[in-house]
This record gives sequence, C-alpha cells and structure tokens, in this order.
Amino acid sequence: MKLFKFIQNGKTHCGVEINHLKYDVSAHFNDYDEMFFESNGFEKLKELVHKGHLTVMSADDLTYAAPIARPSKIVCIGLNYAKHATESGMVVPPEPVIFFKSTTAMCGPYDDVIIPRGSEKTDWEVELAVVIGKKASYIDEDEAMDYVAGYALHNDYSERAFQLERSGQWVKGKSNDTFAPFGPYLVTKDEIPDPHNIRLWLSVNGEMVQDSNTDDMVYKIPFVVAYLSQFMTLLPGDVISTGTPFGVGLGLNPPRYLKAGDIVELGIDGLGTQRQVAKNWVKQ
Ligand code: ZN
Repeated sequence: MKLFKFIQNGKTHCGVEINHLKYDVSAHFNDYDEMFFESNGFEKLKELVHKGHLTVMSADDLTYAAPIARPSKIVCIGLNYAKHATESGMVVPPEPVIFFKSTTAMCGPYDDVIIPRGSEKTDWEVELAVVIGKKASYIDEDEAMDYVAGYALHNDYSERAFQLERSGQWVKGKSNDTFAPFGPYLVTKDEIPDPHNIRLWLSVNGEMVQDSNTDDMVYKIPFVVAYLSQFMTLLPGDVISTGTPFGVGLGLNPPRYLKAGDIVELGIDGLGTQRQVAKNWVKQ
C-alpha cells in the first residue's frame, strides 16, 4: 500500500494506491498524521478499498505534497555509509551520529528547492527515510521493526558552509525551507521486504552523481530505531532519515554545489522518484 497526498483547488487531499490503482480518501481522512497511525489507519484504509466504496482516480497530472503530516521531528543519521564518510573526510563513528532537521523544511517531492539567502554550498543527499508507526520508547532491536510504518524517499538537502563552517551543530545547514522534499509515497513496510538491499540514486542535470545500494548502510534500521528510542520518544509519523551514500557535491573534486536552474532527480527502488529545480531565494 502506498499513501500519498495531492493538492487540488488549493487544498491537500489524502490518497492511497493499491495494486497500481489510486483512490481519493479525503472524505475519510484529513491527514496522515500522528492520530492516523495511532488509530490503526492502515487497516481502515484497507477496509475502505475492499468494501469498494471508493472510486479510482485518474492519476494524470497530480500535484504531490509530502505524503505525511508535518512530523514532530525529523531525526537524521550522519555518516551512515562508509564511502560517504570517507568522501566527507570523516570516519564512521563508533555510535551513530544523530542530528535534527527542522520539520518546516519538509515539502513535496517535485517542489522547487530554494537555495537559501547567502548560500554558496547547497548540496544534495538521497536517503531512505523510515516513518514510525507507533510510539517507541526504550525498545529493543529485535522488536524495532514492529514500530516502523514504512519508508519514503527523502532528499536531505544540506548547506555545507552553514553545516560545517558556521560553528556548532549541523542543524543550521539542514533546515532551510524546501530542504526536505519527501515522498511521493509512504510505502508500507510489507512492500519492501528487504530495505537493506535496494538501489538509491541521484542525478544533477542528467548526470548520475549518487548510485548506490542500501546494503552499504553501516547502522541498519532496527538498530537505529532502537538506538534513537534510548534518547527520545519516537511518535507515530516521526521521520528517521538513514543517511546518504557517497557522491554528494562536497565529496567531488573540486566540490560542486547547486546553482539556480539545476535539475535534481532521485529515486529509490520501490519508493518512487523526485525532481527538484533549484531556484534562488527571493524576498516574498
Ligand atoms: Zn543526510
């Protein structure tokens, strides 16, 4: 099952895709939020479709929003692919690096990416994101997957000067508006039997710069979910972004960063694709 949201007449609607057919379920659900996950939303969705009360949507020209409501937190894992740690001039740490990304950065998968005011080092990071399905506090690794609702494609845009040259925590370089394109789908975990063996890729202006596999991930999903739950309560709908493989702009020689007009495309097998056009920030 794939959950998505789309914009029609200025309003955001909930949709679901089952067996390649899309259904508008906005008459039944306002949003895919904490309440949805907490109150067995997936089962209700399945029931609706099986009862046949919904009509199939024409899937042409949908304007996709992020597939979930703005979460209580976006937690990211840093340096979680060995070759990416090397290209960043760092090593894989003995315990996961974790950092937050502002939830206001979240946007739709085809929205423009806005190069922040004063930015010269806006960079890309294709990532597999995990969406939490139920409240998790002090859980063990062997039960961690019970707390996972599914997966989504995420581009963890990063301003390297803000992140690495402006003192303090990485959050400064991770949180500008449009720095977290998400979706198009939240794909339920039953559709991705092995999330640790899928291809993820990203191209800039048609040139492939990241082309890797999640089998290169150092700290795997059950470990990461259990690990985070020792430090914070994960709420239904929360996002964990599991890190990026090598091939970011920072790691190129010479480094390469986005400029207005650049086109970024990315995908993960089974989770769909995204496309962003880079634009300069302008005062609204
Ligand atoms: Zn990242």
